[in-house]
Amino acid sequence: MAACMQGNAKRGILWTVITCVQCVFCVWTMPQDGAQAAAMSLPAASSWAAEASDAKRALPNNALPPTRSLPTVQLAPLGPEMVGNIRRVTLADGEKIVALTFDMCELATVTTGCDMAVLNFLRDEQIPATFFMGGKWMRTHARRVLQIMSEPRFEIGNHAWTHGNCALLSPQGLRTQVLWTQAQYELLREEALRRFKAQGRGEPAWLAPVPTLFRLPYGRCNGASLAELARMGLCVVQWDVAAESGDNRHPAQAKKAARVVAAQVKPGSILLFHANCVPLGTAQLLREVVVLLRSQGYSFVTAGELLRRGRPQLHMDGYFSRPGDNLAWDKRFGPDGTGLRTPFSGE
Ligand SMILES: [Zn+2]
Repeated sequence: MAACMQGNAKRGILWTVITCVQCVFCVWTMPQDGAQAAAMSLPAASSWAAEASDAKRALPNNALPPTRSLPTVQLAPLGPEMVGNIRRVTLADGEKIVALTFDMCELATVTTGCDMAVLNFLRDEQIPATFFMGGKWMRTHARRVLQIMSEPRFEIGNHAWTHGNCALLSPQGLRTQVLWTQAQYELLREEALRRFKAQGRGEPAWLAPVPTLFRLPYGRCNGASLAELARMGLCVVQWDVAAESGDNRHPAQAKKAARVVAAQVKPGSILLFHANCVPLGTAQLLREVVVLLRSQGYSFVTAGELLRRGRPQLHMDGYFSRPGDNLAWDKRFGPDGTGLRTPFSGE
């Protein structure tokens, strides 16, 4: 079992109830503010079919903070041995499992989409997967998050509120990016629990009180931000295989790209994809990667399960495929990556 997961299990979760709960959810309706109201006015929540509202920029942008600014559940800090980011996991000899992970990134200034072709492929194939969601993305796509929460094979991680760059954010900015996302997850989880109860179903055991995994936007970090993320109890999970490159919508290109991806995969690998309709042809590429990896004897687990079954390989540097290949992102999307022209502080 991975050290960080042991750490969380040993320390347990500290339940801290704050008094300023601003949840305005009721059993079947959602908060009527901005993009969320628009998202929830769409048809039948039970349908996983792609709709026009799932496309990039289809839903209105809401730049407001979440209605709850602090999560009621705070994770116990991780030990100093868990400061760093995990690129892959060392497994016992012969074990051929990997984690497919999907980022759902959204800047402060625009909305992205929800790739239903990806979600439906994973559901049809009964493949466990981990989704690293931006907190604002969760609010924009609340209906889809509730659906994802209803799937026992799916896991949700934290991908910062508005994609703040953890190498550039102030200490306060970093904490706010993380905590607002934890709080938004809680609001949606509470709604999911109400729906389960209304349907006479038991509490979904797979739905963690708050995410315990964090993914660095742009893969960027420094020693201080990694130490702070560990203090907040979050295990930083990156990847050793960045799967997407170029436009993979054409089947021949997707097959070619999948061979390149599969050649990089090892037991214990963590693969990076996106499910926010930004890269082109992710669903086609994913399908081909899954075919190849299955033919090589691999099976799939969530990132959390992979950590429980192996020993994480921790690094202090963050990058896509080689050190320094993501530094150019520091000069895009404002002073700290959120898309705003002013530093993010959460105030
Ligand atoms: Zn991202």
